[in-house]
Amino acid sequence: MPPEFTPFRKTKIICTIGPATSSLKMLRELAEAGMNIARLNMSHGDHASHLEVIRNIKNLNKTAANPVALLLDTQGPEIRTGEVKEHLTLNVGDVVEINAGGGEDIESKSVIKVNYRDLIKDMKPGDRITVDNGLINLDVIEKSAFGLKCRVVDGGVLKSRRHINLPGIRVNLPAITAKDEADIVFGIKNEVDFIALSFVRSAADVEECKRIIARHRGHAQVIAKIEDHYGAQNYREITAVSAGVMVARGDLGVEVPIEELPILQRRIVKECAMQGKRVIIATHLLESMIENPLPTRAETTDVANAAYEEADAVMLSGETTVGKYPVKAVQFLDKITRRSEMSGGIGWARTRPVTDPKAQLARAAVELAENIKAGAIIVITRRGVMADHVTSFHPIYPVVLAFTNMSNIRRKMMIHRGCLPFRIEFSNDPEKTIRNAFQLVRSRNLLPEGTTVVVVSDILAGESRVDAVQVRQLESGTAAKGKEET
Ligand code: PEP
Repeated sequence: MPPEFTPFRKTKIICTIGPATSSLKMLRELAEAGMNIARLNMSHGDHASHLEVIRNIKNLNKTAANPVALLLDTQGPEIRTGEVKEHLTLNVGDVVEINAGGGEDIESKSVIKVNYRDLIKDMKPGDRITVDNGLINLDVIEKSAFGLKCRVVDGGVLKSRRHINLPGIRVNLPAITAKDEADIVFGIKNEVDFIALSFVRSAADVEECKRIIARHRGHAQVIAKIEDHYGAQNYREITAVSAGVMVARGDLGVEVPIEELPILQRRIVKECAMQGKRVIIATHLLESMIENPLPTRAETTDVANAAYEEADAVMLSGETTVGKYPVKAVQFLDKITRRSEMSGGIGWARTRPVTDPKAQLARAAVELAENIKAGAIIVITRRGVMADHVTSFHPIYPVVLAFTNMSNIRRKMMIHRGCLPFRIEFSNDPEKTIRNAFQLVRSRNLLPEGTTVVVVSDILAGESRVDAVQVRQLESGTAAKGKEET
C-alpha cells in the first residue's frame, strides 16, 4: 500500500513565461511554488525578450535547490489574420470577404486579410474557417480568383493577428518554417533542454527537427505537439521518434470535433505510457485563473485526471503569461496533483512490453522497491538512460532520485514523472558514487536515516562494469562528502 502522505510531487509543472512572469522575481516565485520547466512560446515576443528570460532562469538555477529546465515552443506553420485599425464586430449572418492575395495588410468592415496565399486553392464552399481558437466561425459560401466569400456562423469581435484554424485541411506550409528554424537555432545556442515542435503531422517532421538540432550540435530533446487532425491520426509513429508528446488541446480542440478531445487525450497518454515516452497535457487546465483567484470545479477535476492518467507534466499558458494569479495557479496545480497522486494512478505504464535488458532490469527494480516498500529508488545515471527506463514504469509510490554528473542531463530529467534529479561528482569506483549520492540524500534530508532504498547503478565485476540492482539502507557513511552541484 502507498504511504498515507508523499512529500514528493510526481507530476511536473510547466509554466509558459510572458509579461506577467518574465522578471527574475516572478520566475523565482514560480519556481518556489513548483515550476519545473519554463516554456518560451515563440509565437510571441522576440529573441531579445526570450533571451532575458533564459538569462533569468540561468541565474535562478545557480542557487536554486532544484533547477528549472527550459522548453522552447516553435510557432509552427501558423495562419493569422492581419492588423485591424479598430476591432471588427462580426455578427451572425454577416457576409465577409477573406483576402489571401497580398496587398495592404489592413482589414476593413467586410474584408479580412489572411497571411496564407494558398487559402483560396485549399478551400471550397461548405468548408469551415475558425478564428481565434474557435470563438469566431465562418463558412465558405463562394470562391473567386481573389478571395473567399464567407458567412459568419459564430460572431464576435475580431482583433489584430488572430490565429486561424482550417479543420481537416492539410495546410500547404512547411512543417518547420524559416522562422521556426531560426528559433530552434536560437534555442540550441542558448542551451534550451527541449524543443516543442508545433503542428507535427508525421514522424518525418520530428526527424527533420532532430536533423536541425544535430546539424547545430545541440542536445535538446524533441517534444512533438499533437494539435491537428493529421497529428491525431499519426500519433503512434510520431511518439516513436520523439522524446515525448504534448497534447496541445488549444488547437487540437478546434482542429478535431471537441467531443473527440478527451478520447484523443486518453489514447495519446496511453500510447506514450506503452512506448515509455513522456507526455504533457497542455492548455486550459486552470484557464479561469487568468481572472480569478480560484479554479473551477471542472478545472480541478481536469488537473486531477491528468495526474491520475499519469501524465509526466501539466502545462500552464495564459494563466502564467498574462494571468492575474500566476503563482497561485502553480500552487493549485501542485496541491491538486499531489492529492490525486496519493489516491493512485491508472497503471498503463506497468503493462508496457519490454525486451531491452536495461528496461527489464529497471522494471525489476521498480517491482522490488514496491514489494519491499522501499523509501526510494536511487538511480546512478550518467546520461539519464537508466533513469528514463526506471521512471517510464511509473513506480506507484517510491520516488526516483536520479544522480548524474552532467547539469544538462539533470535538467532533462526534470520532465520525467516521479523523478527528482541531482548532480554529483562521479568516481571511477561505482561504490564511491553511490556513497556520494547517499550523502546528498542525507544532507538534504530527503529520506530518514535507515530508510531502505533500491539502488540501480553499475558495479565492478572484476575488471568490467555491470548493471546491478541492490537493496541498501540509507546509513550514515564515512565516505568523502558528496559535492552537490547545480
Ligand atoms: C495548444 O494549442 O494547446 C498549444 C499548447 O499550442 P500554442 O500555445 O502554441 O497554440
